[in-house]
Amino acid sequence: MSSSLCIQGLTASVGGKEILRGIDLEVGAGQVHAVMGPNGSGKSTLAHVLMGRPGYEVTGGSVTIDGVELLGLATWERAQAGLFLALQYPVEVPGVSMADALEEAVAAAGGDRRDVVERLAAEAVRVGQDPAILRRAINVDMSGGEKKRNETLQLGVLRPRFAVLDEIDSGLDVDALRMVSSRVEAATTEFGLGVLAITHYSRLLNELHPDVVHVLARGRIVDTGGPDMATELERTGYAAYGGDTEEPVTGAGGAGDPAAGGDPFADPLA
Ligand code: ADP
Ligand code: MG
Repeated sequence: MSSSLCIQGLTASVGGKEILRGIDLEVGAGQVHAVMGPNGSGKSTLAHVLMGRPGYEVTGGSVTIDGVELLGLATWERAQAGLFLALQYPVEVPGVSMADALEEAVAAAGGDRRDVVERLAAEAVRVGQDPAILRRAINVDMSGGEKKRNETLQLGVLRPRFAVLDEIDSGLDVDALRMVSSRVEAATTEFGLGVLAITHYSRLLNELHPDVVHVLARGRIVDTGGPDMATELERTGYAAYGGDTEEPVTGAGGAGDPAAGGDPFADPLA
């Protein structure tokens, strides 16, 4: 049996307000599913709920990897079950370098920490990250592009079974985007990574080829189609699905807003 991440009837609230209203998705090993949708539709909420961020109340449904229920598990346990989240707003971790964090994470998963520095260096080349950055505190005083490259480096070293990428394209210039998206695409064949790629724009999907595209609007998957749907959506916008107007969003990014502050459970490596 091939591996799968299966989301069924997932409903969740934040601050007493229902945001996810019944999500059904199944991502197979090696597959790429894109989730597109207007601001405030619940994309980041879905990402945080999958990873178990505190403050999000799951009110129904299930999320399994190969039949193992993830809901109710701690974030680190979900990571050990093979789930990875690249945050829309990566968290700064003062005093901890990428090598330190990844050595701990790899050791905790039963891997060999002695390989980590070398693997990290190889991953840095693949996404165009300056090696000097690997010795600095994670994401502290780094540009948006450097932070998104860091998220991708973690993915490459940890080799999870499924990765949720929350707007990994935001903050990346065209060249960086090409490197990051082709690294993730390669992971789908190198180690059978299954990807849930949340994005606002089809440009991410030029190198990271989706098998399936879903539209999330007002907490529900309202449309599902093939890869061509991404370019079509970019042309037509989301107005047909209720657009940006239904749920006015204040601030930059709702659930993922950096103003919400870092918490130690937001990122599997934090
Ligand atoms: P997207 O990522 O699709 O832009 P989000 O998942 O960030 O959307 O937000 C979905 C909705 O949930 C928005 O209306 C947002 O304001 C609301 N929301 C997210 N986080 C919180 C929170 N911590 N408290 C209250 N409302 C929130
Ligand atoms: Mg978001």
